[in-house]
Amino acid sequence: MRKGAFMSQHTGYYELRDALQEPGCAICRLGEKVVARYLEGLIYANANDYQVRAEVKRARGFCTLHAWQLRDYHGAGLDMAILSADVLTEWLNALQSFTPQVPPPNLLQRLGTALGLGGGQPDAVALAENLAPQRPCLACQTRDDAESASIHELLTHLEDPEIQAGLVHSGGLCLTHFRQTLHLVTQPTQAKTLVRLQEAALSPLLEQCREFIRKHDYRFSDEMTDEDGEAWIKALEAVSGRRGTR
Ligand SMILES: [Zn+2]
Ligand SMILES: [Zn+2]
Repeated sequence: MRKGAFMSQHTGYYELRDALQEPGCAICRLGEKVVARYLEGLIYANANDYQVRAEVKRARGFCTLHAWQLRDYHGAGLDMAILSADVLTEWLNALQSFTPQVPPPNLLQRLGTALGLGGGQPDAVALAENLAPQRPCLACQTRDDAESASIHELLTHLEDPEIQAGLVHSGGLCLTHFRQTLHLVTQPTQAKTLVRLQEAALSPLLEQCREFIRKHDYRFSDEMTDEDGEAWIKALEAVSGRRGTR
């Protein structure tokens, strides 16, 4: 047990170090990798598992992002049909047993209708609540757990020179993950290190972004380099996170 825990921490460190060699937020990147592995496993091994089916049904399927990512896996059709049929069955059952009560409207309701303030019919609201997801999307949950583990790994090794260099050269964390990491910091020195590293990562990015803006002026447009051209995409990722992860 102890050996297993040690091994996984070890692997986590190397995965983080490798992710920091690539441009953009490493936490986004690691979460994306784990989700891809999870979705692949779902299609090739687990989708027909009784428990998985029950949980997907409770989640009312997958979120829009992950449902359409699953769509792109080769051979996903049968599994997705089975999982979707479970949700559709429950949905249709709820519709078929829907029998709204029609008590005479009270004064307040009549007044609301007269003023054009519709909505809030109790049985319709109850049906909507009944159909609401009872747990998060399984892939979102997997991503969130993986991201938390990676953030923990980052904080554990924040004094490691390789991790520090990687964090700066990759462009730092995206805003969401930077804030998430700040929330998990325990020591003032750790907070200071994290902030300084993120600052060192963001400064050149902002500089590049400003250069990109400046060179949009026709007088300087021939100065535009490929690196300048990518600045706005890097900035977009820093501010809003990696594409296709949320
Ligand atoms: Zn991120
Ligand atoms: Zn999801």
